[in-house]
Amino acid sequence: MSETLFIDGSWVPARQGGTRTIHCPADGAEVGVVAEATAADTEAAIAAARRAFDSGAWSASAPERGDFLLRVAARLRERQEEFARAESLDTGKRLVESRIDMDDIASCFQYYGKMAGQDAGRVVDAGDPAVVSKIVTEPVGVCGMITPWNYPLLQVAWKVAPALAAGNTFVLKPAELTPHTAILLLDVLDELGLPAGVANLVLGAGAEAGAPLSSHPDVDMVSFTGGLVTGHKIAAAAAATVKKVALELGGKNPNVIFADADFDAAVDNALNGAFVHSGQVCSAGARIVVEESIAERFTDELVRRARNIRLGGPFDERAESGPLISAEHRQKVTDYVRAGVAEGARVRCGGEWGTGDLEQGHYYLPTVIDRVERGMSLVVDEAFGPVVTVETFTTEDEAVATANDTFYGLAGAVWTGDAGRAERVASRLRHGTIWINDFHPYLPQAEWGGMKQSGTGRELGLDGLAEYTETKHIYHNTAPAVTGWFSDER
Ligand code: NAD
Repeated sequence: MSETLFIDGSWVPARQGGTRTIHCPADGAEVGVVAEATAADTEAAIAAARRAFDSGAWSASAPERGDFLLRVAARLRERQEEFARAESLDTGKRLVESRIDMDDIASCFQYYGKMAGQDAGRVVDAGDPAVVSKIVTEPVGVCGMITPWNYPLLQVAWKVAPALAAGNTFVLKPAELTPHTAILLLDVLDELGLPAGVANLVLGAGAEAGAPLSSHPDVDMVSFTGGLVTGHKIAAAAAATVKKVALELGGKNPNVIFADADFDAAVDNALNGAFVHSGQVCSAGARIVVEESIAERFTDELVRRARNIRLGGPFDERAESGPLISAEHRQKVTDYVRAGVAEGARVRCGGEWGTGDLEQGHYYLPTVIDRVERGMSLVVDEAFGPVVTVETFTTEDEAVATANDTFYGLAGAVWTGDAGRAERVASRLRHGTIWINDFHPYLPQAEWGGMKQSGTGRELGLDGLAEYTETKHIYHNTAPAVTGWFSDER
């Protein structure tokens, strides 16, 4: 029996006894066997979260919640190596990257630990001294959380930390391919004494174990990070009970490079933008938009550097990037590139699976593609793999129009030595995060999220906490009196 579901304060197996074996994408080695939940397990978890929320115990004291989250942050730092190894085995990503992720996760808990209870509400002037009118924030209630496999625990932390800070209870359904760090996190929450039912974990396939989190009437909010197609389904299912919905979806993120940019820094960061974690990053800079006058030199250098990227497994200290998450996903990336070539695009490097030692895992070589035009599938659809396209422009207006020509709006960058132009372009780009002369950094204290079909709502920062609160107006008449509105006579 695999007792890896955490429901109502206990570790339990799936009710129907289902299990799933997890394999490392870098070499296919077995990582572990976990429970595979069905909708009945998720419903039991929702019931536990509902009872825990309705008891009011967790929402009672914001200072205690803040202290708890700070203790979680400290414990995560103590257990960082164990967590990082588990993340690397599930995802195949390099250990050094997982360590950075775990550090960021601890910082996220620390940030929201400090934020808990900071919003004491406000009193508004009702225009009548006998009236006390105040605005208070309260937790939303039971939160359903559904997360992807690319940054498994990071995406979980961005939901769990603010939700707990605000006094909610939750049911988490992490990606089925990468469950182990979520299990470890629930272990920490349990170890530190979180009351039973406040945090619940179900593991398994989205359509079965995840679906009740968007449709069930006892769930007050569903927060989802994942693909656009799944996002549509979740929003549609949530509409029936008009629950709060937060969606963090995909991106087709432009990296705009002007001729006056620091050339070496721009090339280097273009590589980071496109190929970190083999491009399995929602904010990957998969769409280079470069000024015509430097395009050839820039692309040649990008291709030269991309060919040098060394791929390898989590514990290969010379590796610079890793495998794709699964055989199915690699096939998807392969088909995506082939379809682009059929439309007339040119592969300058990569476009192939890893060979030799890499054949044990799901490796796909860093791929640079040019001769693409606006409207082609390669510049419209998310690759979610190590694939970058190069488009060109001649004017600032054209650069902005190209960078905004996407139904996504998650992130983008602009590279230029002209500060005025940098600010102008940044303000015209319709994406939720804009980097100027950089790519990828984010901060727990700065909001993250998408415009257009990259999502609704924000994670991190003040808005990331506000997502998990309801606003209530309390109007207190301290001098009640007869209004005389309706006559007392018949
Ligand atoms: P996915 O949509 O396939 O799966 C995400 C999660 O949804 C998984 O836990 C899955 O089991 C679950 N799920 C699937 N169908 C479901 C259903 N019908 N009901 C409930 N849950 C369901 O996405 P993925 O392949 O795991 O992740 C890749 C996607 O995530 C990419 O598009 C990427 O851009 C996006 N992403 C976005 C952000 C962001 O911050 N905006 C961050 C990371 C990843």
